[in-house]
Amino acid sequence: MDQRQIRTVTTTKIIVRGRVQGVGFRPFVANLAKKYELNGTVQNNLDGVYIVLQGEKVASFLADLQQKAPRLCRIDEVEVETTTSASFASFSIIPSEEHGFSRLVIPVDAAVCPDCLQEMNDPTNRRYRYPFITCTQCGPRYTMIQSLPYDRERTSMATFSMCPNCEQEYTDSTNRRYHAEPIACETCGPVVSFWTIEKGHLADGEAAIQETIRQLQAGAIVAIKGIGGYHLACDATNEEAVYRLRVRKRRPNKPFAVMAASLAETRSFAYVSPEEEALLTSSEAPIVVLDLKQPFHALAPQLQTIGVMLPYTPLHHLMMEKFSLLVMTSANVSGLPMVYDEQAAFTQLLGIADFVLTHNRPIVHPLDDSVVKKGLFLRRARGYVPDGLMVDVDVNQVVALGSQQKNTFALGRNNQVFLGPHIGDLQSQEVMDHFQNELDHIRHWMGMDHSIIAVDAHPGFATQSLATQMGGEVVEVQHHHAHFVACLAENNVDTLSYGIILDGTGYGLDGNIWGFECVYGNAAHFERLGHLAYTPLAGGEKAIVEPWRNAVSMLVFFFGEEGKQMAYERFPEKRAAIDIIAHMVEKNLNAPLAGTCGRLFDAVSAFLGLCEVSTYDGEAAIVLSEQMVHYERKKERPYSFSMERVAGVDEINVKSMWKEIMADINTGQTTTTIIARFHETIIQAIVCMVKRQTKQTKQVALSGGSFHNEYLRKHLKEALQQAGYDVLEHKQVPPSDGGLSFGQLMIAKGRSV
Ligand code: ZN
Ligand code: ZN
Ligand code: FE
Repeated sequence: MDQRQIRTVTTTKIIVRGRVQGVGFRPFVANLAKKYELNGTVQNNLDGVYIVLQGEKVASFLADLQQKAPRLCRIDEVEVETTTSASFASFSIIPSEEHGFSRLVIPVDAAVCPDCLQEMNDPTNRRYRYPFITCTQCGPRYTMIQSLPYDRERTSMATFSMCPNCEQEYTDSTNRRYHAEPIACETCGPVVSFWTIEKGHLADGEAAIQETIRQLQAGAIVAIKGIGGYHLACDATNEEAVYRLRVRKRRPNKPFAVMAASLAETRSFAYVSPEEEALLTSSEAPIVVLDLKQPFHALAPQLQTIGVMLPYTPLHHLMMEKFSLLVMTSANVSGLPMVYDEQAAFTQLLGIADFVLTHNRPIVHPLDDSVVKKGLFLRRARGYVPDGLMVDVDVNQVVALGSQQKNTFALGRNNQVFLGPHIGDLQSQEVMDHFQNELDHIRHWMGMDHSIIAVDAHPGFATQSLATQMGGEVVEVQHHHAHFVACLAENNVDTLSYGIILDGTGYGLDGNIWGFECVYGNAAHFERLGHLAYTPLAGGEKAIVEPWRNAVSMLVFFFGEEGKQMAYERFPEKRAAIDIIAHMVEKNLNAPLAGTCGRLFDAVSAFLGLCEVSTYDGEAAIVLSEQMVHYERKKERPYSFSMERVAGVDEINVKSMWKEIMADINTGQTTTTIIARFHETIIQAIVCMVKRQTKQTKQVALSGGSFHNEYLRKHLKEALQQAGYDVLEHKQVPPSDGGLSFGQLMIAKGRSV
C-alpha cells in the first residue's frame, strides 16, 4: 500500500485493566494480533494496557484475550470502542505515553508454574530437583525487589552471577526464561542448607532437604524459609508434634494453617467448592479456609474449619513428596514481626524450632501468606500485594495509615490504591519499625510524595503520633465510616447508601466503643442511624480478653441483683470476681460503654460455656459462630429484642434475650439451637432497624470483621435482599480492620478537596 495515501478504516480501541503490566501481557497481545492477522499497536499506560486493532478477526482476538492470557495476568475490565482511524501496516508494541512508566510496576509473588514443576521432576533436566527453579511466569517478585525498575541487579538475586547456560536462556527472546530476573540453577543460584537451631551446620542442597524430611517425620519442629518469611513446620498428622508446637509457641487454641500435598488430599478431610479449588491452585496460592468433614481437634480446637494451602514453592513440592499434611504456620514470636532473616531465625526461634532449613537468597520484604475465607480476605498479602485497586477518583497525594490491629496502610497514585502488606498489630517498636520501612519503600517505589495523611480518629492509636511525625495534612476518619466506605469504594459506588458495620471495637464519635452500626452516607459524609444499645464493659481490655466478664457486666447492668444470681449460676466458681464486676458496673468504675457485635457474640459464647477466656483475637466469637458451619438454617424463632429511637438514633436492646437464653439452657435446649436463635435475633434486629429508615436508597453495604461469620453474612444478606435491598459486599479488601486503610484513603481524598 502507498504509505503516503491517508485512508481511514474501522478500528477497535481496547483498554484492559487489572494486573496486566510486568507480566508478559504485551508480547502475548502481539502474538495474538499476529495469529488473527490484525494490525495496530499495544501500549502500557497509566490506567491499563491500550490496544488498537484493525482487521477482520477482532472478535476471535477478544475471546482469546480473556481466555488465553498469561498465567500472571488478572483481567478486571475490558473496555471496547469502535471508531475509525488511519490504517496501520503492521502490529507493534509502542512505548508508553508516560516515559518509563511501564517499568515502575511492582510485580507480585507467584506460585511455581506447571512448566517449571515438570522440569524440576524430569531427571534429564539440568534443574532436576533444584528448589529455586523459576521463569517469567512464576517465583518471587515483590519480596525480593530492592528498587525499581524491576531488573535483576536491583533484586536480592544481584549477588548471584548467572552461569553461561542461564545467561543464554535469559537473553534468548524465544526462551520462556527470557528476562526472568530470578533465573538460577544449581551451578549459579541459591542453595538450601539445614542447621540445628543452635546454628550447627548439618547439610546442604538435596541432603538438606532429605534431612528436613527425616526430622519432620521424627516429630521435630523445623523453621523453613520460604518466599516472604519463615514458616514453622511439623507433621500435622503427628498430634504430639502439634501439641509440642502449641506449647512452645504459647498458642493453646489458635488454629494452625496446614499445607496439604494435593487437592485430592485436601478433599479427604475438607469440602472444596469450585471457587475454593480455583483459589487453592491459583498463582496467588493463598491459604483458603475450608469447612472440615470432621473436626481436627489438635489443629483447630473447637472449630469446624481449617486454613489450607497447597505447595507453592519448588521446595514445598520437594518436601510434600513425603507428607500428606504439614503444619505451616508463620514463624513469628507474639508481638514481633514475622521472622524473615537468618539472624532473627536463629535467635527468636530458639526454644521453638529444633532445626532450620534456610537458603541464601535474602528476603527483602517480608510478606505473610494471604488468607481467604468464603471469598473474603482475612489477610491480603502474598500474591496480592502490591497489586493496585482501581477507583473512580484521582487519589494522588493520599496515604492512609490503617488501624491499630491487623494493620495495613494504603497509598494513592492516580486512579489506583495500593494496599500494603499485612503488618499486624501495632503493639511493639519492632512492628512500628516494620510498618515504617514498608511504607517508606512503597512510597519511594511509586515516587510519590503524599501530603494528605488519613488516620483513625482513636486518640490512642499509634498511627496518630506517626501521622504527626510524617508532617502534612492529617485527616481523622471515624473507624466505621472507613469500613463502610471501603465496601462502597471497592464496588465503585459513591451514591448515598446504608451501611451495616459489625465488628469488634472501634472508637466512636461520642467517645464510646462502637461496633454494631447502621449508618447512611458515602465518602463525603455519614450519619449514624442506629446501633446496639450500650452496655458497660467492666474492666475494659480485660473484659475483651476474658469475655465471661463482659457477660457478667451485661447481666448486672440489665438485671441488677437478679443478673448477679444468673451470673453465679453460669460461672459458679467465679463468685468473688462477679461481686467485684457488679460493683464496677454499679459504681461505673472502669466500665466504658460499648455496643459492638464482636463483644455481644463474645458474651453469649462465654454465657453458653463455649469460651470464657479468649487465647487469641476473637476466639470466643469465632468458636460460637463455628457451631453454625454445618447447620442447616431452620428459621428458628428469634429471641425478643426491642428498638427505641433515642435523639433520632435507633437503639437495639437485647436485654430480654438473656433471660430467654437462660430459660432455653434450663429447659435443656441444645446449644446449637440456642446459637441459631441468637443469630436469628441479630438478623431480624438488623433488618428491622434498616426497614425503619426512610432515606432515599435501597442499597446496603456490609462491612466489619464480624462478616467473617459466614452464617451471619449469608443469612443477613438473604434477609435484606428479601426485604427489597441491594446488598454490597467486599471482594478485594478484607471486611475486617485489614481493609480499613482503603476506606480511610477514599474518605480523606474527598474531605481534603
Ligand atoms: Zn515457572
Ligand atoms: Zn545457572
Ligand atoms: Fe473494625
